[in-house]
Amino acid sequence: MTISSNLAALNAKIEIACQQAGRPTKAVRLMAVSKTRGAEEVREAILAGQRLFGENRVIEAKTKFSPLREEFPDLELHLIGPLQTNKALEAVKLFDVVETLDRPKLADELARAQTKTNRNLTCYIEVNIGEEPQKAGIFPQKLGEFLGYCVKKRELRIGGLMCMPPRNADPVPYFLKLRELAIRHNLPHLSMGMSGDFEQAIRCGATEVRIGTALFGERSVQRP
Ligand SMILES: *Cc1c(COP(=O)(O)O)cnc(C)c1O
Repeated sequence: MTISSNLAALNAKIEIACQQAGRPTKAVRLMAVSKTRGAEEVREAILAGQRLFGENRVIEAKTKFSPLREEFPDLELHLIGPLQTNKALEAVKLFDVVETLDRPKLADELARAQTKTNRNLTCYIEVNIGEEPQKAGIFPQKLGEFLGYCVKKRELRIGGLMCMPPRNADPVPYFLKLRELAIRHNLPHLSMGMSGDFEQAIRCGATEVRIGTALFGERSVQRP
């Protein structure tokens, strides 16, 4: 299989899942998760029509995407991995959306970096939807308070919510819970669903599905 045929197959599956859910196809975007992949693989996806990419490390993303963005100015890049506060400035310079905002200190640093760079990016709040102690993300019951802090106190533009349900569990109840939170707080974007469960996520209201393996193949470097 090639990246371009995988991409076509995925887009067809997304379209079918949308039809089954009674949602317009353009309500769901495929994000190509290109962590650990080389620039050549990313380029192959771009040439096949892909424009939205997700990376989980700032420096890796910068090295890979800075040259590609010169060549393809309409790329959109999201950060989907944990962000250390000391990399907030780099992140604000590089990404269009930071999907992993999950603590007040990071909100502070992102706000400061935006003022400094005169950039205005969108953030999604990462929710620890399974309330797992070892995992990143704000707990569901803290979301309202944290959202208030980000919007009122730090004037961040919060566009949506992101989650990673617990491994080896049925993801559907978690997807539905994230949707409920998004509706309650009037947030339009829901980043949820990966290679193994994106069709279920679409049925539950995902607006972005984050797909790595099913597009590029198995990762040789194992990493969350
Ligand atoms: C790696 C990763 C993905 C993609 O996972 P696949 O199973 O390869 O599709 C999605 N979201 C996040 C946050 C990731 O780190």
